[in-house]
Amino acid sequence: MEPIKKHYKNFLISLFQQFPKGHLAAASTLAAGLCFVLAAVPSGNAEATRQTRLPLDLPTQATPPKFVNHTPSNQPHSGLTSTLGVSLRLKDLVNSTLNPVPLVLASATAEASTIKEEPKWQEFIVKSGDSLSIIFQRAGLNDRDIYELFNESAEAKELRRIVPGQTIAFQLNDDGKLHQLHYVKDTLNSLNFTRSEDGFIAKKIERQPDIQVAFRQATINSSLFMAGKDAGMASNLIMELANIFAWDIDFALDIHRGDQFRVMYEERYLDGKKIGTGAILAAEFTNQGKTFQSVRYTNAEGASHYYTPSGESMRKEFLRMPVDFARISSHFNLNRKHPILHTIRAHKGTDYAAARGTPIKASGDGKVIFAGRKGGYGNTVILQHGQAYQTLYAHMHNFGKGVKVGTRVRQGQIIGYVGTTGLSTGPHLHYEFYVNGVVRNPMTVELPKARSIASAEKANFLAQTQPVVAQLEAFKGSSRLAMASDDDN
Ligand SMILES: [Zn+2]
Repeated sequence: MEPIKKHYKNFLISLFQQFPKGHLAAASTLAAGLCFVLAAVPSGNAEATRQTRLPLDLPTQATPPKFVNHTPSNQPHSGLTSTLGVSLRLKDLVNSTLNPVPLVLASATAEASTIKEEPKWQEFIVKSGDSLSIIFQRAGLNDRDIYELFNESAEAKELRRIVPGQTIAFQLNDDGKLHQLHYVKDTLNSLNFTRSEDGFIAKKIERQPDIQVAFRQATINSSLFMAGKDAGMASNLIMELANIFAWDIDFALDIHRGDQFRVMYEERYLDGKKIGTGAILAAEFTNQGKTFQSVRYTNAEGASHYYTPSGESMRKEFLRMPVDFARISSHFNLNRKHPILHTIRAHKGTDYAAARGTPIKASGDGKVIFAGRKGGYGNTVILQHGQAYQTLYAHMHNFGKGVKVGTRVRQGQIIGYVGTTGLSTGPHLHYEFYVNGVVRNPMTVELPKARSIASAEKANFLAQTQPVVAQLEAFKGSSRLAMASDDDN
């Protein structure tokens, strides 16, 4: 009868769920999106699991951020009582780097287009089936030119890896020989070859996107997803926001009308065009009057995690549930009558019914101390987490890749798949949790917080994060001002 906390399936669903009496039309539109999200739930390590990335990018503000306020459009299903987006160029805050680019090619809309330069450039988009030889021929060059280029420049071998969609531009000299070649690998990377007296000189051009800091805030009226969408946030950004607070807020049960969030994140621009969103830098979530704040910190090793402004980790050392999309079929009960043996036999864990093959995730970082068949437990994995904790996963159909005794696993890593091996009546995961050798109820045991910032690192942490938190506060202030005056600066 106890409420199921941190139920990840419900958590996902709740992001999209309307409160009762929601609009049907909106709900059905969301159904498609929900299937998509459910299908897109990643596996892999902890970070990947906690940060669902979707290729889907909802329409976002086309306006280049220049401290822009925008008022929400009054859509019929608008989930907001108030939404405000503010974006700002913030070079002081984040070391934004926009490198001068020595050569910028106009992007071609046609397959081959000329660029107004002296001498003439010819640009070709690599099509499927193209080879370097074919593209050189199109430019009026031949295999001997390719040979020359490859012979004189070691970097030319990168041209062997051309893929459709990339562009190659040529500049020929008066004799019809190759003078310059420009190979655009992707939006940010290109390679330039220029003929000199000593052969071709290669130059790598790596463009840095212009990082701008964006701010969005909303009050939830129907669902987190609707509120985020109306605030101009892409689905993956909404998911990331929810993931940051998922250890503190139960998104399945606890979200109420009037809850608010504020998020400050990176947007990446190239030549004034938005090419995507980056990381969330800081966020705030007010849930039923209780406000949680979180800030991103990158340590000396380059790993980024979220902390409270005082340096406590947002994560817990253990996931409450090691399987997504499961329902609890049997609770921890030390006086249970066994369904097969029909005798009183303690049920020392929680059973999660799920389809055969559903991934089972390590609930915390740890080491595999058992992986194999274990009597009535069937295929079983036992993990040791530090000194005090052990977790056990039973009735697995099969084991995760590379999972054997001695393997180190990360939180969220797939260690096996749901099955019904051993004494079992149907596909489910039997999960046990031990503290200092004593079996505990996995649903109610108090879970330790992940490591907070060490005192030696505290100064670094504060130096990096305090300006970010201050900026979040400033955004809040300025957005309140903007809402009051409804002005456009
Ligand atoms: Zn069980």
